[in-house]
Amino acid sequence: MKKVLILEDEVSIRSFVVINLKRAGYEAIEAGTGQEALDKLKEHPDIGVAILDIMLPDIDGFEVCRTIRATNKSIGIIMLTARTQEMDKVTGLMTGADDYVTKPFSPAELTARIDALYRRIGGDGAGEGAEQQQGPFLLNTRNRTLEKNGKRIKLTQVEYAIMKLFMQNPGRALSREDILTSVWGRDFDGELKIVDVNIRRLRIKIEDDTANPTYITTVWGYGYKWGA
Ligand code: CA
Repeated sequence: MKKVLILEDEVSIRSFVVINLKRAGYEAIEAGTGQEALDKLKEHPDIGVAILDIMLPDIDGFEVCRTIRATNKSIGIIMLTARTQEMDKVTGLMTGADDYVTKPFSPAELTARIDALYRRIGGDGAGEGAEQQQGPFLLNTRNRTLEKNGKRIKLTQVEYAIMKLFMQNPGRALSREDILTSVWGRDFDGELKIVDVNIRRLRIKIEDDTANPTYITTVWGYGYKWGA
């Protein structure tokens, strides 16, 4: 699922945005302070778009934007501004924002801007670096390869897609339906069993001990969880 960060200290506005993001099919990651936003971005390197309020209790939104941009060129950034002064827009764009939305805004307006940004930055893969390291695993999204302790593990395209999904959702229980939809596509008409078959194969390739998997663990009656 495409992730969007919403940084806004006003709880009522934040909840309003969250509800509408979910309705539009996005996963919403919430932050109430600038520092929290930076922490959440580290936690979720696959966030594709960040919505940043400007007036915050700690660091202002422009500073947050500048800090994000210093290390992340690909993430889409939308500034939320309460004021309509040209100054805010100019400052926002100069600190590296891609777009701005003026409060009060309609949910349709905001999601249209997010959709547009997502399209521009290239969808799901944007916002993540070409390489992702977790525990002994290094996933390279440019070459679509996986290494464990520096050694290449040969994966099928489907296995690669599952690994990518796992590494984008560390510690999170994914249902077999989630995995099926995300890897095979919404229109895929196959059985959930195909997920289990591929996980079994993946475990043989990546686990230290296939009989006692520690990286891909089973969530009984639900699905699987990644924890490297
Ligand atoms: Ca505010």
